[in-house]
Amino acid sequence: MTSKYTGGCKCGNITYIVNGEPQWKVSCHCNWCQTTSGAAFRTFVLFNESDLKISGDTLKSYEDSDTAHGRPMINQFCSKCGTQLGIKVPSMDARHIALGTLDQRKTIAIKDNIWWQEALNFVSFPNDSDVYKTGYWNGTGERILKS
Ligand SMILES: [Zn+2]
Ligand SMILES: [Zn+2]
Repeated sequence: MTSKYTGGCKCGNITYIVNGEPQWKVSCHCNWCQTTSGAAFRTFVLFNESDLKISGDTLKSYEDSDTAHGRPMINQFCSKCGTQLGIKVPSMDARHIALGTLDQRKTIAIKDNIWWQEALNFVSFPNDSDVYKTGYWNGTGERILKS
């Protein structure tokens, strides 16, 4: 079987292969993602758990039940080098893999953006991107179209 996607942490302690296509690709600009990543926003590629094979050390997990996303989130990272591999949402069977850990990241285009209302002032969006005021998975996300 050939793997379309591969990746891992900086130190090589944790690697993964994916035998499937992304379910979703999105940047999240919420406060939770800003704080937990230490960056302006987090970008994820979602893969089905059944398509994902993680090898090496066990992911270190920080579970947070009080998030702006309105549901528990588990931040997952390497215990040795601290690289954030992504997020696990207990209610989903897809894993949010952090874009920056994918070997193929330069070939992956991201158009969707969520939690625009908390995005930092210097962040701008290309005209062809889809930008949502909050999230839209539960029907409450108001879609903001860039002019
Ligand atoms: Zn590592
Ligand atoms: Zn977020």
